[in-house]
Amino acid sequence: MTTKQCVDASGNVAAFYHPVRGYYALRALKYFPVNAVVQVFSAHEQLEQPTYLSVQIGDDKHIHLFPDCLQYTNHSCEPNTFFDTEKGEVVALRAIHQNEELTFFYPATEWSMNQPFQCVCHTPSCLGVIQGAAHLEDTVIINYRFSGYIQKKLEQRRAVSGG
Ligand SMILES: [Zn+2]
Repeated sequence: MTTKQCVDASGNVAAFYHPVRGYYALRALKYFPVNAVVQVFSAHEQLEQPTYLSVQIGDDKHIHLFPDCLQYTNHSCEPNTFFDTEKGEVVALRAIHQNEELTFFYPATEWSMNQPFQCVCHTPSCLGVIQGAAHLEDTVIINYRFSGYIQKKLEQRRAVSGG
């Protein structure tokens, strides 16, 4: 198994290549209790247009994460982490075991993705096509935690729809 270590010296996470599936996955290198900060992050660079690796922090504001290996965090419809883009923290949504894959819910930070994809997380609550928070039903939204930016967008949408 090939390991791609984080630049960060915390020793909290590392990206591993999965030779059979053909992609990288981020894994916890230690146990994290619920609400623990798994990894702190900052913006490696800021972009006006998203890439398939970027995280959205505002209208026309997208960042590439540092440490770089966080870009290998895969999406899950039942994520175990939340990327708090205001605090710059990856937070454990539940207890995470050592070596467990870390996942996050892409619509938690992405409003409308220009590269939607068919989710293969195989969790019971899998939503199928993932294309950003703008495309989620209210009944789905209540199940997730969203970044400050996405919360604001959802409130604006509610105000427009008179809800
Ligand atoms: Zn899914």
